[in-house]
Amino acid sequence: MRKRLVAGNWKMHKTPSEARMWFRDLTAHLPQTQAEPALLVPFTHLPYAAEVLEGHGVHWGAQDVSAHTEGAYTGEVSAKMLADLACQYTIVGHSERRSYHAESDALVAEKARRLLEQGITPILCVGEPLEVREAGSHVEYTLQQLEGSLQGVNPASPQHLVIAYEPVWAIGTGKTATPEDAEAMHQAIRGWLEGRYGADFAGQMRILYGGSVKPENATALFAQPNIDGGLVGGASLKLEDYIKLLTA
Ligand code: PGA
Repeated sequence: MRKRLVAGNWKMHKTPSEARMWFRDLTAHLPQTQAEPALLVPFTHLPYAAEVLEGHGVHWGAQDVSAHTEGAYTGEVSAKMLADLACQYTIVGHSERRSYHAESDALVAEKARRLLEQGITPILCVGEPLEVREAGSHVEYTLQQLEGSLQGVNPASPQHLVIAYEPVWAIGTGKTATPEDAEAMHQAIRGWLEGRYGADFAGQMRILYGGSVKPENATALFAQPNIDGGLVGGASLKLEDYIKLLTA
């Protein structure tokens, strides 16, 4: 009942012209799949995504958004601008934004609200650093982050909010949570979402796993009952790998 989402997070990779060619290649090689493909790309690549991917069943979006709606905010990009480029999704609260740009839970919640106002589905990231995992307080930590990052975030339907659990120690490191460890956290997150949004609603929401997902480990991860797909960095940059993930 929950459609699996395979969301590529390209981070700061590829030029716009490289992206345009990659999008064309993807549309030419798109496999038959039950999964929903989505690509979260740098702002500069979005016009090409809208031009090339439209009508192919592939969705696209950005990796961040301004917490402001409009005005004198040099360097910022608003949710309205993203909506104009037909972004269906946008990442908020990625651990790299939280750590390199000191983004707080409250700021992440504001950004998620700006996206919802424009009909864009936030992919909201949470997850613990290594020392928290080693201390055994990862569930508590992650649920607290979730609570702070979802203040005032009230999606109209379960399809309008996606949670991504990304343990920081697994991002770009080649270390993946075991499918069982990931599933345990996803269960805890869904339990928390039930309390917040109601069991029916939370049962239809998608919770993605992220952190060194690749073709070799995706099948076991995606087979877990509460893992509804992945937020994939490195492995989403290579077309063959991304296509394999769509059929995992
Ligand atoms: P990774 O990145 O797949 O390269 O570990 C995932 C992410 O940061 O979203």
